Amino acid sequence: MPKRVAIVGAGAGGTSTAYFLRQLHARQSASDTLDITIFEVHDRIGGRALAVNVSEERVLELGASIFLTSNRIMYESALAFSFPFVEESEGSTLGLWDGAQFAFQTTGKGWWDTIRGAWRYGTSPLRASKASQEAATKFFRSYQQGPKGGPFRGLEQWLAVQELLEYITVSGKAFLGSQGVGELYQREIVEGANRVNYSQDLTSSHSLAALITLAALSGDTRTVSGGNARIFSEFAKRSGAELVLGPGKGRVTLVERREESGYWVETEDGERRDFDAVVVAVPLAHNAIRLLLPPTSPYTLRRSTLYPPSTTFVELHSTAVIGQLNPAYFELAPDSSLPDSVIFINPAPPTPSLPPPFHSATKHHTYPDGTSLYKLFSTAPPDQVVASLFLPGAKVAATKSWRAYPHLPPTDPSEVPPIVLDEDSAGGAVLYPGAFERVFSTMESACVGGRNAARLLGQSWGWVVDGGFPDGPDSKPVKAKF
Ligand SMILES: Cc1cc2nc3c(=O)[nH]c(=O)nc-3n(C[C@H](O)[C@H](O)[C@H](O)COP(=O)(O)OP(=O)(O)OC[C@H]3O[C@@H](n4cnc5c(N)ncnc54)[C@H](O)[C@@H]3O)c2cc1C
Repeated sequence: MPKRVAIVGAGAGGTSTAYFLRQLHARQSASDTLDITIFEVHDRIGGRALAVNVSEERVLELGASIFLTSNRIMYESALAFSFPFVEESEGSTLGLWDGAQFAFQTTGKGWWDTIRGAWRYGTSPLRASKASQEAATKFFRSYQQGPKGGPFRGLEQWLAVQELLEYITVSGKAFLGSQGVGELYQREIVEGANRVNYSQDLTSSHSLAALITLAALSGDTRTVSGGNARIFSEFAKRSGAELVLGPGKGRVTLVERREESGYWVETEDGERRDFDAVVVAVPLAHNAIRLLLPPTSPYTLRRSTLYPPSTTFVELHSTAVIGQLNPAYFELAPDSSLPDSVIFINPAPPTPSLPPPFHSATKHHTYPDGTSLYKLFSTAPPDQVVASLFLPGAKVAATKSWRAYPHLPPTDPSEVPPIVLDEDSAGGAVLYPGAFERVFSTMESACVGGRNAARLLGQSWGWVVDGGFPDGPDSKPVKAKF
């Protein structure tokens, strides 16, 4: 009898689950065949990784854009699939705008910026970087074999084993303060970057979010040429899964435990198919999928941790703009030079912090006619922001409105969701790899969640689940700079 697995959602979490399931299955000496079906409401693979063509020569990520070389699944998969990376543009400048003035600007000259940064922020950058590396090292234990590597049935257990639990209980501000990171560095650099990463301030988000932000700030990052979603398409392809894409047949509306064993999966077009296991790789906090699972299931018992009002998602507009920043917006003379990229930071106290009209405008390319390609992150409608922030004539080349990532407030460990939502007597289960997003939201953590889900299923079917990361027992970590 084949094992039939339904995966809901073709983002990082769903496609990585399929990929790792297939890899695990291939390593079993004797086992049932494995059929995987991926349901996806959109006509494309990638979820929140979405690259668009903005001009003949440019592709821009409107969703997830970077990952670290220490993110083993993303980085090593890109290398294994021979995907080239986008070339970094060198020497760009950054300005931190507080609504009234540029609090700090870099010059693009690495050594000079280092000296000026040291003068302004003292030892805070080093202290912050050390704290971030400590947290990252703990997270990367998730790749290990043995007890620290799981598989884990719940996020709380996972975080406890990695010694990450304490980080989610305190705000970024409180934690960084306790590590001796100065207020100025916190507000200007860490909070500025945290707004770009998670649209959240340090007081309202927990410390793990801030430390992830810092890791991206100081680490060695990559973007796949042609779009990060290529990795997820390749995962799906190599998994041999049946792809059911598009509204109607691809949108899952119901997952229901069958009387005997296994689960029904119903789609918007009314079709019902039965499976041995279901992996729900979508954010449940704002998804309309109904889960009809027994009253004794972890899902029913811990339902409140899956849909807490505090984890509403940040509504964010990501916009590709071709044009030039307008000096008048910054109350500067028309011929003034501006930094290449601008981050909107909170002003120094006692000036009150107001919701910023935009989080960041980052320059990605300059065209021969002197205009540039910018990526604008804003919670305000993009047309409104573009009209004031850019010189007349600027054009919106593409825009996408996201439910981007959850609000990440300091959280009591008992409020983090389970990963195993239900189990039947035949080794089948409903799993939720997206549980990880309750703690932070990255492509890598979604893939770590996918790998964990694959191993949980394999384990419940008596498979050997140790070894083989990411592409066979001989694989060695690629040397990563962090
Ligand atoms: C603007 C932005 C910038 C970001 N920047 C970064 C970054 O630089 N680096 C980084 O690592 N991360 C970044 N992230 C976060 C990252 O994109 C996510 O954490 C990650 O992609 C989540 O993957 P996922 O598979 O869990 O969810 P998703 O990517 O959301 O995938 C879920 C999929 O399920 C589908 N779906 C939903 N409901 C149903 C249904 N009922 N039936 C069938 N299919 C359904 C959706 O269409 C989607 O394709 C960013 C996110 C955004 C929005």
